[in-house]
Amino acid sequence: MIEPTIIARLRQNWQTVRSEVAAAAVSANREPSAVQIIGVSKYVDAEATLALVEAGCNQLGENRPQLLWKKNEQIVFPNDIRWHLIGHIQRNKLRRSLPFEPIIHSVDSPRLLAAIAAEAVAQSRVIKVLVEVNISGDEAKTGLSPEQVERLLLDRPQQGAQIIGMMAMAGWGSEREEAKIQFSQTRQLRDDLQKKHSLPLPELSMGMSGDFNEAIAEGATMVRIGSRLFEGCDFIRPL
Ligand SMILES: *Cc1c(COP(=O)(O)O)cnc(C)c1O
Repeated sequence: MIEPTIIARLRQNWQTVRSEVAAAAVSANREPSAVQIIGVSKYVDAEATLALVEAGCNQLGENRPQLLWKKNEQIVFPNDIRWHLIGHIQRNKLRRSLPFEPIIHSVDSPRLLAAIAAEAVAQSRVIKVLVEVNISGDEAKTGLSPEQVERLLLDRPQQGAQIIGMMAMAGWGSEREEAKIQFSQTRQLRDDLQKKHSLPLPELSMGMSGDFNEAIAEGATMVRIGSRLFEGCDFIRPL
């Protein structure tokens, strides 16, 4: 059982984040509905994840597929939840993950994309994916260089995986101003490739608890927010 005070705090956090995201959209002359909030539930167990859903969050992001599986074994989530896989994913985790029809934000190699497409075809699904860009050039980060992104788009599988956009994270230790520049570069890359190859890439997944304002100013359509949602709920332990 989660204490009512924690439930109330979660609900309050959700409302606060929602209004900050909406305000960031409005100050960028964008519609609040143009920015989706992915609640990153990787920090908490299944019960607390469901509490977040009940507070109003219907898009959930996990960085490890095992957590997605385990939570769904423990709890039946409402049907209208959309799951997102946002962390590096191994090919041998796809078979069990695709039945949840997650949006996969972390496509960081042609091999992974091919494997997603093949498994999706085998399961008669179409999986939406984003290509992860290493825009900061930070060697410690996953993601593809802009050149590799372009090659991936050109050689993309024709069935099973639909590329809907790009995901980026600011480099480690980036100041917010620096993060803003990296988000802007990501959007620019998206715009260029979209135009050059006549390929719709509407989604930009960028921005986390510490930098979602900058990301929204630079065109993010999905922000992945975790720690802000669980502030003050410290004793909810990760799985
Ligand atoms: C954990 C995580 C987030 C959320 O980060 P917070 O700073 O807690 O909001 C976003 N994206 C990815 C890929 C993550 O692993």
